[in-house]
Amino acid sequence: MTSLSAFPSPGKLLRHAVRSIPAVAGIATFVHLARGGFRGLQTLGWTEAALVLCLLVGIAVAAWRRAMRGSVGAVIDLRDDLELGGGLVAAGFIVVAIGGGELFPIVYLLMAFLVAFLPRNAGLTLLGVALVFDALVTLGGPVPNAASFATHSAFLILFACLYHLVLASRIAVARRAENDAVQKRIREVEERARTFRLVSSGTHDSFSGMSSDEKWLVASVKEIEGAVHAALEIAETGLRTHTCAAFLLASDDRSLKLYDCRSGSERVNRDRFGAGEGIIGGVLKRRAPVRMNSAQGLKGVTYYEGGGPTVQALLAVPIIEGSGLVRGVLVADRLGNEPFSDQDEKLLTTIAGEVLRSIEVERVMTYIRKTRDEKDRFFRAIEELNRAGSPEQVFAAVLESTRQLAGLDFCAVTLVSEVDGKRMHRVARMTGVTAQGKALEGRSFQDNNGLVSNVVRYGAPLPGRDLKAMNQQIIFDDETQIRGLGALKIFPLVAGDRILGTLVAGSRKKANFEQDVLRMIEVIAIQAAQAVLRAQLYEQMERMATTDGLTGLFNHRTFQTKADEILAQARRYQRKCSVVLTDVDHFKSVNDTYGHPTGDQVLKGVARIIKSMARDTDVVARYGGEEFVIIMPETDAKGAYTISERIREAVKAEVFQTEMGPLKITMSLGIATFPDNGMEKQQLIDLADQCLYHSKRNGRNQSVTVAIMQGGRKLQAVEA
Ligand code: GH3
Ligand code: MG
Ligand code: MG
Repeated sequence: MTSLSAFPSPGKLLRHAVRSIPAVAGIATFVHLARGGFRGLQTLGWTEAALVLCLLVGIAVAAWRRAMRGSVGAVIDLRDDLELGGGLVAAGFIVVAIGGGELFPIVYLLMAFLVAFLPRNAGLTLLGVALVFDALVTLGGPVPNAASFATHSAFLILFACLYHLVLASRIAVARRAENDAVQKRIREVEERARTFRLVSSGTHDSFSGMSSDEKWLVASVKEIEGAVHAALEIAETGLRTHTCAAFLLASDDRSLKLYDCRSGSERVNRDRFGAGEGIIGGVLKRRAPVRMNSAQGLKGVTYYEGGGPTVQALLAVPIIEGSGLVRGVLVADRLGNEPFSDQDEKLLTTIAGEVLRSIEVERVMTYIRKTRDEKDRFFRAIEELNRAGSPEQVFAAVLESTRQLAGLDFCAVTLVSEVDGKRMHRVARMTGVTAQGKALEGRSFQDNNGLVSNVVRYGAPLPGRDLKAMNQQIIFDDETQIRGLGALKIFPLVAGDRILGTLVAGSRKKANFEQDVLRMIEVIAIQAAQAVLRAQLYEQMERMATTDGLTGLFNHRTFQTKADEILAQARRYQRKCSVVLTDVDHFKSVNDTYGHPTGDQVLKGVARIIKSMARDTDVVARYGGEEFVIIMPETDAKGAYTISERIREAVKAEVFQTEMGPLKITMSLGIATFPDNGMEKQQLIDLADQCLYHSKRNGRNQSVTVAIMQGGRKLQAVEA
């Protein structure tokens, strides 16, 4: 509300009166001096005393006013300077008038002082006032004295100019020194930056060796931070700022965060603050530098916390990328009312460029580090896959590498096989659980309309990441539900023209399925397929080399190796161990009557019976022709005899179906036991063979131990 009264209030009137004392007292003194006042100590009267008092009060008021304005940083205008300077000059002339012309040098010194320390226009005005006044006194008096005036004016001007020159040259020298220092710092920073660029474009070799590489990266980032800090230091020194700070925009462009600063204040905001408000908001919107100043203190300075200083001059430059993207803002401020110049703006713009380059380099470094880490893990995964020998190792390597690369929550490898002309799928290995909380490992299911079946059918990955109603999808079979997945991808395991199975990759978070991660899983699937195929072929070859093609039992060579192993164990632990040799009775006639293929079928059946009757720890092998061998660890003659008899009974009971009607056979078995009958493998085999021969000679279809053979008795003799 403004006052409606036409007259100022008494307080205001008093302030006006005090405010006008310096001017009134100064002018009154000059007038009195010009009219011949202050002629000597004897002639001083009340008028002079009152004038001197007024003048002193005026000088005091002017000095106080100037000091007050200076301390709050307000503008000191020409009137302030003239009132103080004028009062002092008037006082000087009083001294000269009273003390005589010899004291005039006081005026010279005073003038020199005023010209040197007041702004140029105030100094020159006062010089003019002094000259005019001196002219009035020396030329306009009763006895005009041109020589005296000439001397006075010459010296006044000389002193004023001399002081001004000396001061100006000293200021110039100081400015140059300061400029040199700034330039030197800029060169240093440029040198550092160049060194850094050279390093960053260095050969790939510098990336090898994890630990030294890490150290190098840390050093580089520190170097960048140092460069930014040095740039701000230059700005602080060169621009004489209170605060010089770089703020960067957050990724959402809504807030700013301090990157680095040099400030005389503790209250520069280190937390995020709004990027749309105040002067800084304006700079970001306009994408152009802003310069502002106000003696009352600027409004809209948002980068100080509450209780921050009053900023009177501010210069802000946006940090803009080459692509036009605004990354942040570089701010410089001053507390005194000393506006920033064009030069200052240019310097800060250069520094903004330096800051931008630094943060760019840092971003590239981070990116390189991230991708290099990913690549490292990827290559390690591929290496692991290539090293894996057995399918089990391959599956483990696949799951481990996909987990590490993509942080998957669900991962499975399925294999496909043909069983009786029908396609079957089997979950070979998985991590994560189904909705029912079951682990799927080992589960088999028939070909169906689920995703795994379709991936195998079409040999192409399914589906995309944008699968709708993920929970309703059948991945494996009807009975298996996987819930809570945000993203899913199933890759076929393709090796050449064969589809071996699938790699199922699922994640709760969609974000985990970035394009490059998917690409990596895809490559892993390709590698995994190769590894599975390799492992399967290897297994197949190994099987072929160790087993008999007709019966699937171990072959003769494997029997020899296993026999050595088992005997060595028995010897070391002083355990018993038996060898049983079997031979089908009158097998020739089977071949002769039913044909060789039927003979083969019978041999397969006999092998199956022996295998099913033997224990898991027993080794069953085809010894050759229609002869089989069983090594029974931890088994004495009695035990071996019992199992042999069971096998013999089973073979005898079996009815083999042939084209020519049912067929029955019998079998003879010979048993030798370590260490009772012999210590060496061959010795035991020979003895078992002799027992077998003994059976043949004694009516066939019987089991014969060494004891039976030697004693010609049955098992009771063995026991005794
Ligand atoms: P014995 O009771 O004395 O053992 O009479 P045998 O006829 O079985 O005589 P022997 O054991 O000496 O006969 C081995 C026969 O087994 C010779 C061969 O025709 C037949 N044979 C060997 N290997 C195979 C094979 O892989 N398939 C078929 N079908 N027959 C085989
Ligand atoms: Mg034989
Ligand atoms: Mg035989």
